[in-house]
Amino acid sequence: MLKVQRIHAFDDNYIWLIGCRDRSQVAIVDPGDADPVIEHLEREGLQPVAILITHHHGDHTGGVRELVQAYAIPVYGPANERIPALTHPVGEGDTVTLDECGLHFKVLDTPGHTRGHVCYVGHGALFCGDTLFTAGCGRLFEGTAEQMYASLEKLRALPDETAVYCAHEYTQANLAFAVVAEPDNAATRARLEEVRRLRAEHLDTVPALLGLEKQTNPFLRSHVPELVRAAEAFAGGPLGDPAAVFATVRRWKDSLD
Ligand SMILES: [Zn+2]
Repeated sequence: MLKVQRIHAFDDNYIWLIGCRDRSQVAIVDPGDADPVIEHLEREGLQPVAILITHHHGDHTGGVRELVQAYAIPVYGPANERIPALTHPVGEGDTVTLDECGLHFKVLDTPGHTRGHVCYVGHGALFCGDTLFTAGCGRLFEGTAEQMYASLEKLRALPDETAVYCAHEYTQANLAFAVVAEPDNAATRARLEEVRRLRAEHLDTVPALLGLEKQTNPFLRSHVPELVRAAEAFAGGPLGDPAAVFATVRRWKDSLD
């Protein structure tokens, strides 16, 4: 039985620990900072067995070298990016097996935020780094809008019950845009109210179920007529296909940030 633990890092990063309910072994996802990880492992009596990296940005990889020095564990990460201390380059179709925990995760290529970004999915959980955020998606730093659209569609095809473990707590700001993009979406408005209540109490809003994302995340809704109309109004003309709608909605949000 999968058990995921959360470590807060920097202002709004999440470092996830993947393990099993009855075992002390864990894999560390995107350790941007080693100190809070080591502190958590020691406090909880956990034994790290691997590091999983989604992409090369420093707030996801900054703690890798120190953790490898401390624990001598393998590092899985995108084959197409420069990842510190990488021992197991992975890409689409690969499986990461954590023998000690009896867990297996499929690797998905999800370029867009960066050129080689990967996600890990298994046991009803999706570790998606900075590709899909709760109610939002990552910025296009290296890839094209077409690539990001295809990556997000790949994630949208996963079951509704999938828990989305993204790497940042951005839900409230993302929903503030989502209600502008889709003012008549009652599910989005209700989610914003709920998330405002949680954040006012300093509570976490990640993970969220993919089913809720499909209802409220504008970056998974480029096929929805209301959003298409809103994107066309922003673009000032017709948009040919859902990828163009996605690109426009991404540009629209960037213009407000
Ligand atoms: Zn990033």
